[in-house]
Amino acid sequence: MSNTLYDTLIAPHAQSDAPFLMLDDGSTLTYAGFVARVAQLAHVLHDHGVEAGDRVVVQAPKLADAIALYGATIQTGAIYLPLNTAYTQSEVSYFVGDAAPSLVICDAGTLDEMTRTCGDTPVLTLASDGSGSLSTAADAAPTTFTTVDRGPDDLAALLYTSGTTGRSKGAMLSHKNLLSNAQSLTDLWQITDQDRLIHALPIFHTHGLFVAMNTSLLAGAQVRFMAAFNVDTIIAELPASTMLMGVPTFYTRLLGDERLTRDVVANMRLFVSGSAPLLAETHTAFQDRTDHRILERYGMTETNMITSNPFDGERVAGTVGYPLPGTEVEITENGTPVAAGEIGMIEVRGDNVFQGYWNMPEKTAEELRESGFFITGDLGVKSSDGRISIVGRQKDLIISGGYNIYPKEIEDVINDVDGVVESAVFGVPHPDFGESVLAAIVLQNTALTGAEIAAQVEPDLARFKHPRRYIVVDALPRNTMGKVQKNVLRDEYSA
Ligand code: ATP
Ligand code: MG
Repeated sequence: MSNTLYDTLIAPHAQSDAPFLMLDDGSTLTYAGFVARVAQLAHVLHDHGVEAGDRVVVQAPKLADAIALYGATIQTGAIYLPLNTAYTQSEVSYFVGDAAPSLVICDAGTLDEMTRTCGDTPVLTLASDGSGSLSTAADAAPTTFTTVDRGPDDLAALLYTSGTTGRSKGAMLSHKNLLSNAQSLTDLWQITDQDRLIHALPIFHTHGLFVAMNTSLLAGAQVRFMAAFNVDTIIAELPASTMLMGVPTFYTRLLGDERLTRDVVANMRLFVSGSAPLLAETHTAFQDRTDHRILERYGMTETNMITSNPFDGERVAGTVGYPLPGTEVEITENGTPVAAGEIGMIEVRGDNVFQGYWNMPEKTAEELRESGFFITGDLGVKSSDGRISIVGRQKDLIISGGYNIYPKEIEDVINDVDGVVESAVFGVPHPDFGESVLAAIVLQNTALTGAEIAAQVEPDLARFKHPRRYIVVDALPRNTMGKVQKNVLRDEYSA
């Protein structure tokens, strides 16, 4: 009898009184308490007819019970499907229709709408104060549950991609996919039961759910589980913590606060960034302020984490480091590896790579080669010593007059202009050239004009790369993971 993830992430803690989740209200859930709560919730799932292989949809506030629900879904042999809490009901109806869950858990406030969306599928509630029909049923349930057998190749989660480039796709992740990645990261980042992680990410995404929670569970680490990102709380928690995992905006927002000092981070041993590119300036500014070099890593929903800068060894700003142990990365053009230093498609193979897209056999066949390599859609370069740098998404590549134009190269030059905070370069249709280059820029308290920026940018770039327009915006459009949505810019500025 065995269940790959349950046996490694949850069962070992059954007798441990060590703290696991430290919550905003000052309370702490111990590891043993967590294991018992997982079992109670597993009873609730079972009582509502959830069986091995069924999908459990969770669109709920960031609470300890939401993490326990992940554990409970694993323990019942079912497939956990978390949804972005920002999704509207019409968006949710796509996921529910696509995934055909046998149980849905939602915030109390959306119960009526959710019930309409779900038809005959049972819906339970979890409100942000922890109350609701889910917790009421769980409170009355036994604190042990007979774990359902699941092997390494069985599915553990159906995680939808962030939808940055189009409609979200459901990535089928097996027990082995999740466990192998948690093991690689825990080893590489040397996470132990002495660590205390500040967790301020959402838990419906691979970063906050798997990178952060699976590694903590595997290592027995403590997690300061914050309902939402908040600079004041993070600053207050830093002195007692050892790790922070964040998206780049966490770091720019922390840098915007003068209380971020060397002293306040004296106990910290690791700052991780991912989900979107970390600007080299942010990396440098953070080091200047704190003496810490942020460790940037790269991954995606379909593959878990792919590369990481080294824990010991040089962390190079603007690169995402080396492939994780057990993960192969190739840079290809038309499927054939290119030489070091050449830009190509990032392809990846390993136990971390998903089982395919849910209900999308054709898309799966297009992107997952028979050799096991997954075509990520990201363009990158490998240096001669094997470090990977991300150039951008293939979908954001601009082809103008037959030339390939990589937005990041232009963005790097624009971002160097004094007074520019950040920029996004994108292509819009052009009758002669196919596409032409535009730049959206965010300025800091300056009245710089497009002409002045152009005068500084153009000498560094070949003429065909010059943006035709510099559009000053208050902020770049981003999704909830902090990713810049270039499709939104393209739609808005395609004349
Ligand atoms: P969709 O596939 O639905 O368009 P998405 O690709 O944004 O959305 P995710 O799986 O959440 O969905 O994000 C993975 C992508 O995030 C990667 O393919 C890559 O483009 C980007 N990414 C992740 N980490 C980094 C990083 N360190 N630097 C640059 N880009 C990154
Ligand atoms: Mg993607």
